[in-house]
Amino acid sequence: MHQHCSRQIFVRSCPSFSPVKKTPLLRSVFGFLFVVFLGLTASVAQAQTQTVVQKYGQLRVQGNRIVDQTGTAVQLRGMSLYWSQWIPKYYSYNTLKWLRDDWKITVVRAAVGINGTTDGYLVNPTAEKNKVFAVVDAAISLGIYVIIDWHDHTASDHRSQAQAFFAEMAQKYGNTPNVLYEVWNEPLAVSWSGVIKPYHQALVSTIRQYDADNIIICGTKTWSQDVDEAAADPVSGTNIAYTLHFYANTHKQFLRDKATTALNRGAALFVTEYGTTDASGNGTVNAGETATWWAFLDANKISHANWSVADISESSAALNAGASENGGWTLSQIKQSGQLVRTECIAKAPDLSTTTPPPTGGTTPANGTFKIVGRASGKALDANGNGTADGTQIIQWTYGGGNNQRWTLLNRGSNQYSIIGVASGKALDVSGSSTTNGAKVQLWTYGGGNNQKWTFAATTSGYYRVTPVHATGGCLEVTGNSTANGALVEFWTYSGGTGQQWAFSAP
Ligand code: MG
Repeated sequence: MHQHCSRQIFVRSCPSFSPVKKTPLLRSVFGFLFVVFLGLTASVAQAQTQTVVQKYGQLRVQGNRIVDQTGTAVQLRGMSLYWSQWIPKYYSYNTLKWLRDDWKITVVRAAVGINGTTDGYLVNPTAEKNKVFAVVDAAISLGIYVIIDWHDHTASDHRSQAQAFFAEMAQKYGNTPNVLYEVWNEPLAVSWSGVIKPYHQALVSTIRQYDADNIIICGTKTWSQDVDEAAADPVSGTNIAYTLHFYANTHKQFLRDKATTALNRGAALFVTEYGTTDASGNGTVNAGETATWWAFLDANKISHANWSVADISESSAALNAGASENGGWTLSQIKQSGQLVRTECIAKAPDLSTTTPPPTGGTTPANGTFKIVGRASGKALDANGNGTADGTQIIQWTYGGGNNQRWTLLNRGSNQYSIIGVASGKALDVSGSSTTNGAKVQLWTYGGGNNQKWTFAATTSGYYRVTPVHATGGCLEVTGNSTANGALVEFWTYSGGTGQQWAFSAP
């Protein structure tokens, strides 16, 4: 998008906090309600809400699909922010929170404006970078995915700056599952093999020095339309997807055909930007063609982010002038395009409900994300050092809410569960399918082995024995019933010890 707008003042929004002073009467009312609440949780499996990042976890590319931590194809839907240097006001926590809670978006895109003689990243790198940090930090705290977009048409002219930028981003955010890197928004009509692909290859090398796994989305020739050409000569590396952009009143079946060719050649695609309008970002909102596109994207599990969260006059902008950076937008403050996209995101929002484990007497926890706490120590199952590599040792540590202490359970059939680390996307695994007491328990890429599947048997007081399927006499144990931080978690023959029992609760 090439649209310019007047510079606006960036006001950093700070959510206010006003504690409620409780009177004794109120306290007793709250106390009564609390008792009722406890009664409910004891009698039914309480519905909970998780974030989309808790649900999907670490994303990766598998064939021509983007898949979640369980290997299931996923589709994200959301919004792109506008050029950061021109409409910075929506680069805010409160905007993202409103988009998450009211529009039900699962991904947001920070479009870092690069090129310019008087503004943009090349002129004001610190100011633009701080906007990225604000958006990414907000997305992490809100549990949604975020695309860091080098919003540039001639990025090969700024390769060293892009490498330095993404090196910093990968070091800062590479250990979070929230972040995707988009390293060149829309290359122009320059050579894929001679210019665009070599640029991507260099950026992939840079990012992979610091982040082994988060998805890198590569722009394609002709404003990110020639995905078929990119798929025929792909960028080397893992977890790489290609950018497809469309504007529905301009780009129709011919571009969907290109996308189909790319998919058939094995490329995973991500629509990091699309408009319901003309390619100019203005003109007619074409609701019918947009619906045709959404149906195509749904059929192929392609994620999308709409251009744009802006309150300027162009028809692709979602908002009318003056819509607050704090959200709370009424329908009259949302333009035709924004209303269409909001309705689509709400209609197809993923189910984020989950359930807590059943109380005493239950047999298996439900699917969902949990902290897992040892009975002897009260300490949490933890991937040592926030490690994410295959072979990372599992230990116990005081629960601090880290994603290396959150685990997603998924029933793989017959109540045999994988236990996947939220930070790593990797499975709890008994090394080498060992049946020897003291065998290492570690993170490993999930492959479906019986040493990566677990069953649960209730013991007493809400605790569970956790047993690997490959060794039904064994269990997950804290070495020597230790209560120390850092004590190893390992495989051991089950004897009913308190170091062999675990509680599951909402993280
Ligand atoms: Mg990573």
